[in-house]
Amino acid sequence: MAKVVKFGGSSLASAEQFKKVGDIVRQDENRRYVVPSAPGKRFPKDTKVTDMLYACYDLAEAGKDFRGELEAIEARFQEIIDGLGLSISLTEEFQMIESNFREKAGSNYAASRGEYLNGIIMAAYLDFEFIDAATVIFFDNEGNFDADRTNGVLSERLKDCKYAVIPGFYGAMPDGRVKTFSRGGSDVTGSIVAKAARVDVYENWTDVSGFLIADPRIIDNPKGIDIITYRELRELSYMGATVLHEDAIFPVRQEGIPINIRNTNAPEDNGTWIVGSTCQKSKYVITGIAGKKGFCSVNIEKDMMNAEIGFGRKILQAFEENNISFEHVPSGIDTMTVYVHQDEFMHKEQKVVAGIHRLAKPDAIDIESDLALIAVVGRGMKSTRGTAGRIFSALAHANVNVKMIDQGSSELNIIIGVANEDFEAAIKAVYDIFVLTKL
Ligand code: ASP
Repeated sequence: MAKVVKFGGSSLASAEQFKKVGDIVRQDENRRYVVPSAPGKRFPKDTKVTDMLYACYDLAEAGKDFRGELEAIEARFQEIIDGLGLSISLTEEFQMIESNFREKAGSNYAASRGEYLNGIIMAAYLDFEFIDAATVIFFDNEGNFDADRTNGVLSERLKDCKYAVIPGFYGAMPDGRVKTFSRGGSDVTGSIVAKAARVDVYENWTDVSGFLIADPRIIDNPKGIDIITYRELRELSYMGATVLHEDAIFPVRQEGIPINIRNTNAPEDNGTWIVGSTCQKSKYVITGIAGKKGFCSVNIEKDMMNAEIGFGRKILQAFEENNISFEHVPSGIDTMTVYVHQDEFMHKEQKVVAGIHRLAKPDAIDIESDLALIAVVGRGMKSTRGTAGRIFSALAHANVNVKMIDQGSSELNIIIGVANEDFEAAIKAVYDIFVLTKL
């Protein structure tokens, strides 16, 4: 049995948090590969070390004096080292970083130092081997993650290495330059390490006890999700539920390795299990609800549209020509509606409308703005009759006008379009009917 354990920034923000992490790792000898983030916020108004590094490097790049900013970063790490009673020194590392900043090593290199230095501290604290991610995680010349090369080198490197710390968030380009994943990318590193080492579990430790059925800013004390499939999670994260970087599921999913989201501040909680498939029923018919505001619908009408071959393609071509992605395309006999992100569409709307006229010659086009989309997701919906009925009667009782309904053919989700102003009321109504009253 072996586990990869990834710790997020808030789990490593101070020496106190480091100690909790140390206890968690030492408590289970299967926790063999540790992937740390950079130190996060110690209190709400604090600044993450990654953000301090970006700001410091901006000064360096502009040719301004950045020593004060770099000293503040060094002080953050020194505070952790002192608090843990370690005798290591990062002085030489900081001299190197300063000289690389002067030589304009790039903002990716700068940002990656948070994870790199935290990894050195963590390895010393746990007495694990330190493996610099730049020697085992690779990107290609275009900057895309090179999965094959990484997996080959990393699995070989870990074969004879029982306990190691591998910093998250970065790797190296073919020319040796450091490159990072997008923000929150240490989650991705954890998943890559889990795949290469073929571990049994990827534990992702953060500051919440897993996923919640709904956003706690909308629902008071929402219930947690015990177990969720990768597919359900994809649906929910696409619609705005964030705990895990969305690219983090792919490497482990291919290998059938489950992810367990855990809380460093409440290690006794089981958290959420993310799995390929399960015969375990969720407690409720739905697994989760998520949504986003800020969509527009473009309604296109044309008599006999259903008989015109290629009509849908021509409409979508008008969006493609303007580099706009679409979300949903519900259609009727003589109408087709395209849902798009308002902020992407707003500035190009007249170009798109002209394009639709040119390509598809519609009878009328009508645009509606300030819409929200809500995804009700659950593997349990497939085997339960009346789910849609319950959703819509709950919405009717809450006085919410439903503008669009779209059930995915996998019966895993139902997407509902409502006005922005009805967004919160709609989520409350769906949560209440499935979770609180369990009707
Ligand atoms: N430290 C990086 C960030 O703040 C990466 C991570 O924490 O996963 O985005």
